[in-house]
Amino acid sequence: MSVRPYRDIIRRKSRQIMVGKVPVGGDAPITVQSMTNTRTTNVKGTIEQIRRIELAGADIVRVSCPDEASTRALREIVPEVTVPVVADIHFHYKRGIEAAEAGAACLRINPGNIGSRERVREVVKAARDNNCSMRIGVNAGSLEKHLLEKYGEPCPEAMVESALEHAKYLEDEDFREFKISCKASDVFLAVAAYQGLAEACDYPLHIGVTEAGGLRSGTIKSSIGLGMLLWSGIGDTLRVSLSAEPEEEVKVGFDILKSLNLRHRGVNVISCPSCARQQFDVIRTVEVLEKRLAHITTPMTVSVIGCVVNGPGEATMTDIGFTGGGKGTHQVYVNGLPDHRLKDDDIVDHLVGMVERKAAEIEAEKARAEAAGLTGAEAAPAAAQ
Ligand code: SF4
Repeated sequence: MSVRPYRDIIRRKSRQIMVGKVPVGGDAPITVQSMTNTRTTNVKGTIEQIRRIELAGADIVRVSCPDEASTRALREIVPEVTVPVVADIHFHYKRGIEAAEAGAACLRINPGNIGSRERVREVVKAARDNNCSMRIGVNAGSLEKHLLEKYGEPCPEAMVESALEHAKYLEDEDFREFKISCKASDVFLAVAAYQGLAEACDYPLHIGVTEAGGLRSGTIKSSIGLGMLLWSGIGDTLRVSLSAEPEEEVKVGFDILKSLNLRHRGVNVISCPSCARQQFDVIRTVEVLEKRLAHITTPMTVSVIGCVVNGPGEATMTDIGFTGGGKGTHQVYVNGLPDHRLKDDDIVDHLVGMVERKAAEIEAEKARAEAAGLTGAEAAPAAAQ
């Protein structure tokens, strides 16, 4: 029985597949993906961008392969990066075969679109021979003609049917190493399609609201759509699609998972909106603090609260807490308990120093526990759970 059952999320049971070395589905952590926007033939630029995406924390990166030169470029790109690379293929089965042979960990390809059973068979063979999985990617904007005629317009039922039709091609080849996405730019449509698909099969699901928009509007749309799905246990890997740099997509993806306690990476800052009671400039402090803490990957919670109305209460649930207090000094908490007081002038420097030291402590403790053979959960600090 959970201590806080209102926070429990029961994940849909899905099969597990491998995308390179990264497991997707089953009880594997929900992974975060993004996609490059460089020309894939620009090998140097693509490698550099993938490295930036890796640094932001992505588990998997997708790269478009529209032509033979791009699949050839994969041969140089894949060995230079740590994350598994998914090759995005549209229609042309030969690109799929070339990408699998060039080291792609996964092919994003819709088997029903590549022309014939024989071609599907060839792509499956190349995938099998090269330990490459696949993603079927249904998109409301490019549904098959016969489904649009049957249903009249893109709708959840048409999207689920499309996904299952593509899946059948692979099942007929006895190939089940694939995940499915069912994206739409409309949040209602995307959520309903994923809910239908989650019921209809046990394949791992790659979730996303496609073409969600710019950084702010896209983040909101994605948070509503993905939040709704993840909260109900649906989703094994995700991409937040933004008209913004891919690193931003990764950050938003992690923030959505963090908000639902599904995965932790970096510092989760809890801060108040501030008001006339604030004893220091909360907004400016948090703005600078978040930037200065962006390099921390250790899961940790830090509360930054303007006054004693909510500060002490929030601090009890964080690794490091900061509450604006009277008379020019503020209260600092460590592991939920009052620790020391601080003057106004050096709040950010002081907190950054504390977080860096705490992160080093947590990592050292984790390494010790791992060496002693304890599991991650046993070794993790309570507030970061
Ligand atoms: S915690 Fe204090 S400063 Fe922050 S919003 Fe609430 S009352 Fe205002």
